[in-house]
Amino acid sequence: MIPVNINRIRERIQRAATKAGRRPEDVKLLLATKTVTAEGIREAAKYGELLMGENKVQELKQKHEALHDLPLNKHFIGHLQSNKVKDVLQYVSCIESLDRHSLAIALQKKLSQSDSHIDVMIQVNTSFEASKFGLKPDDALTFAASLKNYDRLRIKGFMTIGLFDADPEKVRPSFALLRQIKEEAIAHKILSPEEAFHLSMGMSNDLETAIEEGATIVRVGTAIFGKRALPDSYYWNEKA
Ligand SMILES: *Cc1c(COP(=O)(O)O)cnc(C)c1O
Repeated sequence: MIPVNINRIRERIQRAATKAGRRPEDVKLLLATKTVTAEGIREAAKYGELLMGENKVQELKQKHEALHDLPLNKHFIGHLQSNKVKDVLQYVSCIESLDRHSLAIALQKKLSQSDSHIDVMIQVNTSFEASKFGLKPDDALTFAASLKNYDRLRIKGFMTIGLFDADPEKVRPSFALLRQIKEEAIAHKILSPEEAFHLSMGMSNDLETAIEEGATIVRVGTAIFGKRALPDSYYWNEKA
């Protein structure tokens, strides 16, 4: 099923981009692989999908070891505890879930020690729900400006989960808000167009809407790998 599902998602991305007057190749597919086995990821990789995102450091580590022979590009897309920074830096090229100063400080410190850099995206809570991580939209630009102090972090854009609703039209304001934050960051010269480039938004159920609102990365799990055994609250809630 995985190859068939990947084809369907590629078609959905193409159609949505074309409809929005955008180039399909400007929207990247990121496999959201939480709970997916290494074999599942290997199958998707066979069909050319090499960009993946994990939510938990432990899972990331296990799959990294099982899949080290593949040229996968891994992003971290879950809540990152500062004490896990050292581990996560071994595995990923980008942390999409940068959402607080303490994490920026922890990253800067570890990266300075190893004289290296990492790509980051600023995660914004665009749905105003208490249960999701991310900065308040009002704080996003101040936070972005403050990241200039952390020279080990290469800012690449913004990420959001958005309102959790089966109706993509109800999620649209979340995506529009992230786009607006990006545009303001550029207009006010808080970030360069390159630093504010990515909008990582849109999932299985609402990727078309996200693409219409400017998504450059859509993160898709269920529509490729099937339903997960664990509820998303396990990954998204404060206490998880
Ligand atoms: C699980 C997850 C996704 C993918 O969600 P699906 O609805 O399964 O496509 C995307 N982003 C994040 C941060 C996730 O945790």
